Amino acid sequence: MKLPKNRENDYLIEALKARTEFLEKQSKHPIEHLTSSRIDPEVTRGNIESIIGFAQVPVGVIGPLKINGEHARGNFYVPLSTTEGALVSSYNRGARAISLSGGVNVIVTSDGIQRAPFFVLEDVFKAKEFTKWVQNNFQRIREVAESTTSHGRLIRFNSYLQGRIVYLRLHFSTGDAMGMNMITKASQAVCNYIELNFPIVSYAIESNMAVDKKPAHINTILGRGKSVTAEVLFKEKVIAKLLRTTARDIDTAYRRWVTGGQLAGILGSNGHVANGIAALFLACGQDLANISESCVGYIYTETIGKDLYVSLQLPSLVVGTIGGGVSLPTQKECLQIIGCHGEGKVMKFAEVVAATVMAGEISLAASIVAGDFVTAHEKFGRNKPRE
Ligand code: NAP
Repeated sequence: MKLPKNRENDYLIEALKARTEFLEKQSKHPIEHLTSSRIDPEVTRGNIESIIGFAQVPVGVIGPLKINGEHARGNFYVPLSTTEGALVSSYNRGARAISLSGGVNVIVTSDGIQRAPFFVLEDVFKAKEFTKWVQNNFQRIREVAESTTSHGRLIRFNSYLQGRIVYLRLHFSTGDAMGMNMITKASQAVCNYIELNFPIVSYAIESNMAVDKKPAHINTILGRGKSVTAEVLFKEKVIAKLLRTTARDIDTAYRRWVTGGQLAGILGSNGHVANGIAALFLACGQDLANISESCVGYIYTETIGKDLYVSLQLPSLVVGTIGGGVSLPTQKECLQIIGCHGEGKVMKFAEVVAATVMAGEISLAASIVAGDFVTAHEKFGRNKPRE
């Protein structure tokens, strides 16, 4: 494989072609579609290395979805990227049910992202002394962290002791960015400062307590990214006409699913939050690995007369509207469709995500209760190999 010697030239079309020609020879299969995008590979600098093209995943749209948020207000058309047939039509039906019921109320209840370095001390006594020292010097530590960024803020920390090891879970706010690059740099500065000013034995920048890209109770309890909660009062008539069932049947089914989930040991309790999150993350340039913690969601239902009250909580939704992959060409366009690209838009985006997830939850629940779950997939969602 002939590649440019200078890594600076790695994003030239010639470099991309050299790699794909090599792979064509290796695999003995032509590469046409990976390389057919009109997007200049140069725009992916900072997002990928050794680029060989663009994965093209179909994008569909649902809407109008009526959202009554603090930041997202009005009717939204939401792009969803997926290869799962029936998903978009199901979310679309849920969006209709929400809109006909007056919309989904949604708020962001907390905001912050974490890095969690660990420090090894001489013994447990020194570990205790260290924790106190961090508390007493927090103002200085905060200044050190914030000297590395103009948007990141070190809000607080939690400490956990295991013998002579101290885990510090640093909690930052990061403006409109998802923030992991930003706070990793800030956390490194914190570690450097601590190493210079307290007699530690050693440290590492991450202890796995952040918890980045993994579902975990700590994210659910303390929050990670945006914690968002939403509610809808689905009207009896809408449930009967559009969802072909009743409030009571959905409510009863949900309670049985909660128990089923408990028996199975699920973290969260929902039907398929991951579907909506994944489809939105893919369309809108979010870090796909953060689906792991973002898709932990809790659904609560109750009947109010013949209507159905449904609430949703997403405690650890990790999103950004600046930085990462959000300004790549198609990703930016998708964010712009919902008015969520760039500065001052991250809370709005978090609300749109939760509203979309709600649409998927009600539609799936209704289809299982009403017995159309299999028929919908048979109609829209099969792709048996064609001869
Ligand atoms: P980034 O693209 O690395 O940086 C975005 C930068 O935009 C911020 O640091 C900030 O600079 C600047 N900015 C300008 N206007 C802003 C605004 N209104 N709000 C917030 N920031 C603004 O993005 P990131 O969110 O820090 O990191 C996301 C990326 O990190 C993703 O690609 C993800 O895959 C990757 N990631 C990294 C790690 C890691 O350990 N490093 C872990 C997981 C994921 P200032 O800081 O100078 O203010």
